[in-house]
Amino acid sequence: MVCPKCQSNNVMVTTETTGMHTRNRGRGCLWGIGRLCLIVCTCGLWLLIGKSKGKSNTKVNNKTVCICQNCGNKWYI
Ligand SMILES: [Zn+2]
Repeated sequence: MVCPKCQSNNVMVTTETTGMHTRNRGRGCLWGIGRLCLIVCTCGLWLLIGKSKGKSNTKVNNKTVCICQNCGNKWYI
């Protein structure tokens, strides 16, 4: 690995977390009422089923980043 700026090979390669997306499923008021009805109708059984669902997915993006120890130049590969 050689720095494109100063041609030094004193480059540190590391991984950087660029973005964390937490995806929440859009559930409004209507869903709350509907869920409540389902809980009542199924005598609370729905709560057990509903628990496994409704999870938020967190997506983490990792990028490989090179940092030149000589001039401080930073670039992604
Ligand atoms: Zn450099």
